[in-house]
Amino acid sequence: MILATHALTGAVIGKNFYHPGVIIVLSLTIHFTMDSFRHGEYFDSRVATIKNTWWKIALDLSIGFFFIFSAIYFRNFDSYQIRNILLGAFFSMFPDLLTVLFWQFKWKWLAKIKNFHSWAHCYNHFPKYSFERQWTLRNARNDILFSLLAIFLLFI
Ligand SMILES: [Zn+2]
Repeated sequence: MILATHALTGAVIGKNFYHPGVIIVLSLTIHFTMDSFRHGEYFDSRVATIKNTWWKIALDLSIGFFFIFSAIYFRNFDSYQIRNILLGAFFSMFPDLLTVLFWQFKWKWLAKIKNFHSWAHCYNHFPKYSFERQWTLRNARNDILFSLLAIFLLFI
């Protein structure tokens, strides 16, 4: 799923749990679980480069953090909650950061994590680069639903 969806979900985890270790484990687990739902990718590693993809990543991050910082601004979270929200958001996106690092630098130690990440995606039974994984509104439906739910839970 896109970074905004992951960041928003992680922020909700951070808002609702106190212990950083719990937040990190839950954020990582939920990342892989969410990736098993049908979703499109704006990122095709066969043709994408940092040069032609950075603005999509920046836009994606900006949308997620716009809502997270708005919630922090409008709600009276204490400093622990703010730290936990940011911690959850970061670790919810962390597997994708590792994938980008692997994609860029091909570090061997990241290969196992990358394979696990791909395996989590395979759960949705749609092969890589198939129609069901393309960047279309229909394929973004789960991203939109999860994000709206997360925004709701972040603001209540
Ligand atoms: Zn992922």
